[in-house]
Amino acid sequence: MITIKSPREIALMREAGRIVSETFTVLAKAIKPGVTTIELDRLAENFIRQKHARPAFKGLYNFPASICASVNEEVVHGIPGPRKLKEGDIISIDLGVELNGYFGDGAWTFPVGEISVEANALLKVTREALAAGTSKALAGNRLFDISHAIQSYVEGHGFSVVRDYVGHGIGRAMHEEPQVPNYGKPGRGLRLVTGMTLAIEPMVNAGTHAVRTLADNWTVVTLDGKLSAHFEHTVLVLNNKPEILTAKAE
Ligand code: MG
Repeated sequence: MITIKSPREIALMREAGRIVSETFTVLAKAIKPGVTTIELDRLAENFIRQKHARPAFKGLYNFPASICASVNEEVVHGIPGPRKLKEGDIISIDLGVELNGYFGDGAWTFPVGEISVEANALLKVTREALAAGTSKALAGNRLFDISHAIQSYVEGHGFSVVRDYVGHGIGRAMHEEPQVPNYGKPGRGLRLVTGMTLAIEPMVNAGTHAVRTLADNWTVVTLDGKLSAHFEHTVLVLNNKPEILTAKAE
């Protein structure tokens, strides 16, 4: 079922989304060579709990941590651990927050120190693909207008979009209908209506779009071992301009 949020619910989602964005601000300061991904997980969890919110990924489908931390060729669902970040790595962090029964979800890929020209291009294109997708989250548009905007932007820059994992509706649950693929034909899919809230999240690979899951049953990596990036916002569908509920404070 696709839910349309009331103004009261939107206000609550705005608060959850703000904590997501503030957590990324805290993490950004801590991401540097030598830091471990479990340290980032603890930092995020402590910050979220200080805000009287709950790290929503912890325990979701039995995931063991508060953030997903996916380094280099890892696409999504990396489990935080003792791995130390190195100069030149990229790290995708995905995190969710529940506050007063409502959810926010966001992802951001960070450079660790100086990164390669290609890695920089991948981050920039993925971030811009998310912006291209969110700009289509308008009442009257079709769902796949979002998908197509992302796919055409990414492929136009020579990268590929992951097919096996998609965005989703969000609200009183982390994952609600509809699924929001990062590929598709424009003018197709359900018609968007003011008050829908969607987690739009392109996962973009430098090489093939194909992925596989490691033996830990969580970590998804690119099949060819090339880099992958992930950016995500929780977005409110409106008439003229979508509202990014997880936008970074300026
Ligand atoms: Mg998500």
